[in-house]
Amino acid sequence: MPRFRAILDTMPAYKPGKTVVSAEGRSFKLSSNESPYEPLPSVVEAIAKAATQINRYPDPGSVKLTEALAARFGVPYDHVALGGGSVAVAQQVLEAVGEPGAEVMYAWRSFEAYPTLASLAGVVSVEVPLVDETHDLDAMADAVTPETRLIFVCNPNNPTGTVNRSAELRGFLDRVPENVLVVLDEAYREYVRDVDVPDGLTFYRERPNVAVLRTFSKAYGLAGLRVGYLIGHAPVAAAVRKTLLPFAVNHLAQTAALASLDAEDELLERVESVVKERTRVRETLIAQGWTVPPTEANFVWLRLGDRTMEFADLCAESGVAVRPFAGEGARISIGDVEANDTFLAAAEAFRR
Ligand SMILES: *Cc1c(COP(=O)(O)O)cnc(C)c1O
Repeated sequence: MPRFRAILDTMPAYKPGKTVVSAEGRSFKLSSNESPYEPLPSVVEAIAKAATQINRYPDPGSVKLTEALAARFGVPYDHVALGGGSVAVAQQVLEAVGEPGAEVMYAWRSFEAYPTLASLAGVVSVEVPLVDETHDLDAMADAVTPETRLIFVCNPNNPTGTVNRSAELRGFLDRVPENVLVVLDEAYREYVRDVDVPDGLTFYRERPNVAVLRTFSKAYGLAGLRVGYLIGHAPVAAAVRKTLLPFAVNHLAQTAALASLDAEDELLERVESVVKERTRVRETLIAQGWTVPPTEANFVWLRLGDRTMEFADLCAESGVAVRPFAGEGARISIGDVEANDTFLAAAEAFRR
């Protein structure tokens, strides 16, 4: 019998999200915070052209994309590190800090990947409960020990959509020792409209122990191609490059990401439409009598407790797939108008 690490027994097997279809054959995927838009023609064209070259390995250093990101954000080339999705970059960071006894801290509930990746890296997870659905930064600073290596701050937080603002974050960073890496996970940065929510790059510029994690999966609509990146000081970015699986950022992903940066204005217009829909969805839910935390991301959070799975099942009957966390609540992505209307009708039916 082959022997495996004991930690695998504590980890749930991967459950693929099921496609839900209503009796009328309608199907809306509001479960993964993806862009509801198909890729731009210019991006599809770039991918099609790049497809003729895939007998060759991709550029392992993703030089063009790294240069483009460095220019886009006004940071040195050696401060940018890529991965096959920002989940992969998070894993690379964990691989880089993880050794027996090392502690990694994050809020809970937050991004589902943190505990799994931490377990795989062999580090100790320190989970600090949310307060009012928001990171409790004071409690997190209090929980730092000499073993703390890494802290994830997911801003806006997945799955609650809530944010931590500039003054509060600065106070927190002041309390974190310089030998602890703070990764600000800004997967939803482009959807933020609250001007008091900092661009994490501001803190990265001030502090060598702060890095920012971003992705092409959400606002840029490239979830299927897998490309994300970290911006951090040279030693941090170097560690993330060393832990990159060779060729993990494939040629189509590099090409599509470059084409998306070229088409950024068009993509950000789409983000603006999603933000408008977010306001409409949240206000409609509140008018229906729901409590909905303010959200700065492309999803809303409903704390349903014991009724979470019942709610998800009712949405599924209308063809709407949401992301339920049994016993806690459901996260519902903002989709196109038709998807959102269908979801809102199901939410109203649930309240009656
Ligand atoms: C979706 C998401 C990511 C991005 O994942 P990719 O691997 O880049 O697709 C990262 N962090 C959070 C918090 C997310 O919700």
